[in-house]
Amino acid sequence: MKKEYEILKVLSELPGVSGNEKKVSQFIAKEIKNHVSEVTYDNLGSVIGTKGQKGPRVMIAGHMDEIGLLVTQITKEGFIKFQTLGGWFSQVMLAQVWEIHTKKGIVYGITGVKPPHIIPQEKRKEALPIDSFYLDLGVSSKEEAENLGVEPGNMVVPHSTFKVLGNEKYLLGKAWDNRIGSAVVIEVLKRLDDDLPNQLFGTFTVQEEVGLRGAKTSAYVVEPEIAIAVDTGLANDVPGGEALEQSLGKGPQIFLYDGGLIPHQALRRFVIEVAKAEKIPYQEAFIVGGRTDAGHMHLNGKGAASLSIGIPTRYMHSHTSIIHYDDYENTIKLMVAVIKKLDQKKVDEILQD
Ligand SMILES: [Zn+2]
Repeated sequence: MKKEYEILKVLSELPGVSGNEKKVSQFIAKEIKNHVSEVTYDNLGSVIGTKGQKGPRVMIAGHMDEIGLLVTQITKEGFIKFQTLGGWFSQVMLAQVWEIHTKKGIVYGITGVKPPHIIPQEKRKEALPIDSFYLDLGVSSKEEAENLGVEPGNMVVPHSTFKVLGNEKYLLGKAWDNRIGSAVVIEVLKRLDDDLPNQLFGTFTVQEEVGLRGAKTSAYVVEPEIAIAVDTGLANDVPGGEALEQSLGKGPQIFLYDGGLIPHQALRRFVIEVAKAEKIPYQEAFIVGGRTDAGHMHLNGKGAASLSIGIPTRYMHSHTSIIHYDDYENTIKLMVAVIKKLDQKKVDEILQD
């Protein structure tokens, strides 16, 4: 495996649903430690790596949490009932393998489905409701499940390992939303030296998938004037899909609109200018049914000029999503080039535009 893929494999496979991001934040704090002047936290657990001593306050954020489940009950037969965390589409949840993270280690469970043989013809076309789902651990009683360490409050994540696909730039994994955005922020902190025209706050937020909660608390700490969320966007370059500005490998998506943010127009124009000057490919996409951390960051204090940038992702919010390595690399390049140019004069120009 290519050396550049190693960190992506780790980040994709680490378990960390909303509210349970500790393993991810510990890994990230270690990764950035030698590349920032200080690592601090908000009280919810978001990580903030600081770089640059003077000038405007620039925040870039990727969220650490992934969508997953939370164990709520164990039935007396040993089946697990759960609460979903984040937006799950019921049809992708069935017949999958899941990891329950317990104090005694990982326990596997599956979202079992009745075989078609016993489902009446007219029912086979219906989507099943999530609240009818359960995890089957392969045990025969509640006691057996408890002996394995399973208890209410355990986090559950998709069991899905990182894979390099046919064309080695196509990378399969769970949790690209948003470990790939976290990876971008890590790499931006590594590539920039400390001699910056601004104070940069490379932020890794918690609990984005349940309502951008860490974005709110970390922005309160940072007090940004400029805020950029790096998250996943949609890739729809598949049979039956409209690929317009939503393709893998065609560059970062600079959002025109998402469910939580109308981007600051002067900031958006500036980022596009930088992309053109640096010959970095980009796509101008939009998301109707989703938000990013910028949705809260831009509302902090008297407001921050904000933008969302996305790495196109196929099959988001499932066990198996696909990204393209070039989009990751080009997002890093774009962010690095943008941050280097954000001096006081440029930020004043943007804010006064
Ligand atoms: Zn996300």
